[in-house]
Amino acid sequence: ASLLEIHGLSKVYADGTAALKDVSFSVRRGEFVAVIGPSGAGKSTLLRCINRLVKPSGGEIRFQEIDAAGASGRQVRQLRRQTGMIFQHYNLIQRVSVLRNVLHGRLGYMNAFSGSLGLFSRKDVEEAKRILHRLGLSQQMYKRADELSGGQQQRVGIARALSQKPELILADEPIASLDPVTSRAIMEHLSDICRADGITCIVNLHQVAMARDYATRIIGIHKGEVVFDGPPGELSEDV
Ligand code: ADP
Ligand code: ADP
Repeated sequence: ASLLEIHGLSKVYADGTAALKDVSFSVRRGEFVAVIGPSGAGKSTLLRCINRLVKPSGGEIRFQEIDAAGASGRQVRQLRRQTGMIFQHYNLIQRVSVLRNVLHGRLGYMNAFSGSLGLFSRKDVEEAKRILHRLGLSQQMYKRADELSGGQQQRVGIARALSQKPELILADEPIASLDPVTSRAIMEHLSDICRADGITCIVNLHQVAMARDYATRIIGIHKGEVVFDGPPGELSEDV
């Protein structure tokens, strides 16, 4: 069975922009999917429809037992708890410690500011430290997020997503602000999470080379439509 099934998905923004048109695909558990396409293709809209940061205009999204396209209230919160989101600009809380940023992920990032700050169980703190250690951030745990380099901040972003124990990770251009060496390190961490933890990953990228090197499957989108869907080996060398 598929973890995620998308059928006939469309999104028209309030100003009339048709960002997605009749998008359909399904994702099996454990896949590492790269969504590629030029700026404005609809990649970010697609990811945001899946965790309902954007409300689809039409079509169906089924994630586990949840009707993501039609979900409201409690179901949207459930959906967001089960999907870890990673952003291009990391979206950390800049003035608080790395450890606290990860613990806020545990509460669900939409609740980061409304949770009772400072009250975390010993078990949650141990778990957050273990995840930070795995991502090579043991030395940075008590630093403020804004004291870290871009690559370190994105590793915190990954740690925050992992702390949710998600079924699915949605990464929106996670390496677009990083240099090539740091970008590869981040992609290695994401593939490791996919392989070792069996967490399904959907990663938006505009570098085709990165998609070829790390993804098990590539979905190409152009002007809101799927124009390619297959393994990296089937992608033309000319793209
Ligand atoms: P990508 O992630 O591939 O760059 P986006 O999903 O961000 O593509 O954007 C797809 C299209 O939708 C673009 O034309 C963009 O300008 C437009 N768009 C994105 N967000 C909004 C919004 N909130 N309101 C109106 N148009 C938007
Ligand atoms: P990011 O990639 O970090 O989300 P963007 O510049 O793509 O940054 O988008 C910033 C915000 O503006 C997003 O909420 C996006 O949905 C919105 N947006 C993007 N394009 C448009 C657009 N053409 N019209 C209105 N809002 C847009």
